[in-house]
Amino acid sequence: MAEFLRLILQLEQEVLMSRVLAGTISCCNGAKLQLNGSFDRRIRTSLGEFNMDFFRVRCSACGKTFAPLQRFIQLERYQSKSNELEKLIVEAASETSYRRAVAQLKRDGKLAVAHRTAHDWVIRTDCDEIDISKDIVGSLPVQIMPDGTKFKGGGQDGKARQGDLKVVIGINTRGEVFPLGSWAGKSWEYISEQWKQGQVALPKGSILISDGELGLSEAFADYVDEQQRCHWHLPRDLYHMMYQDGARKKDTKPLQDALAGALAIELPQEDFKKVSEQEKSDIEERMENTERVIDKLISYLEGHGYDAAATYITRAKKGMFGYVRRWLKLGLISPRASSMVERVMRELARRIKRIAYGWSDKGVTKVARIILKRFTNAKEWEVYWKNKMNVIGNVYVDIGNYKVFSQNFAH
Ligand SMILES: [Zn+2]
Repeated sequence: MAEFLRLILQLEQEVLMSRVLAGTISCCNGAKLQLNGSFDRRIRTSLGEFNMDFFRVRCSACGKTFAPLQRFIQLERYQSKSNELEKLIVEAASETSYRRAVAQLKRDGKLAVAHRTAHDWVIRTDCDEIDISKDIVGSLPVQIMPDGTKFKGGGQDGKARQGDLKVVIGINTRGEVFPLGSWAGKSWEYISEQWKQGQVALPKGSILISDGELGLSEAFADYVDEQQRCHWHLPRDLYHMMYQDGARKKDTKPLQDALAGALAIELPQEDFKKVSEQEKSDIEERMENTERVIDKLISYLEGHGYDAAATYITRAKKGMFGYVRRWLKLGLISPRASSMVERVMRELARRIKRIAYGWSDKGVTKVARIILKRFTNAKEWEVYWKNKMNVIGNVYVDIGNYKVFSQNFAH
């Protein structure tokens, strides 16, 4: 098949060169193109690899040189692998180890590249770039959820190093999830600073939903109007904090239960406009009452020497009812827990573990972004590649008695 492809390309080159000689292909305003030697390049595609001799031409007006065939099949000047092969390799490598990915492609009858080469391609690809421009984020309020996970990184002297991977996802008002970024070995503060430099802005009314990780809510405070602390984490963290302060299960259990109960203010699911003003003010009152209960909880903790727990709840208090305030203000329902991003993180951690040990921060960042893009928005990923490959399905091959049309040819 690779040889057959090479033959097609050679024939295409003949056609292009005869057009060059006839003057129907030109550069500057009809200036003549002259033959300018040729160069040999190894081309890799999923069908196999082969050497291709590209003819080069030179514009008699501007002096620019190019290979008509290279331009026709939209290969960049130094590109030696097809985009579809890069896609195959990148996808396989983001699902399993390089070794297995390569073996799997071989089984499928695709070109087998060395696993080192596959790794190299992943490190160099730019398909992992995450676009967080206004076109992607939109103009309506979004929910953003950051989270982190650990991974086994490549260390020195044969010792594994604990790596740290951070991810931010966004959810728009239609409930669609999109990636906002992924970083390895970087602090939340660094990420926030990077956003500032990139002039990232989120639409007004956006909310941050997160667990209580130190430094996280501070780092994103400037980007959102409201913060929501994950309600699932709060009672659990209260337990850990009180435990640090010397409390045991019998002391913590009633407080955890009381906190979990107080936090759960259910919002009406119906259209915000149909909810009566009375009901809205009841909910607001309930929120304010609960905040007073939380104050009492804080004094109780302080009074019993649970200082770490008291500090923790004091810090968390301002983010306890972000979802209620946002609903009262904008009529938008947002989750009380960060479970969406945790699901993404679990999937990410699972795959990274399966792919390989001994990751460099750079390698893990690349792969994490690829997984994140495919996992959160598989459709967008396909669109990206389709655009990159510029597949228009408009092909007609005619060799001797053989004629082959692609499905879209008629269009
Ligand atoms: Zn020219």
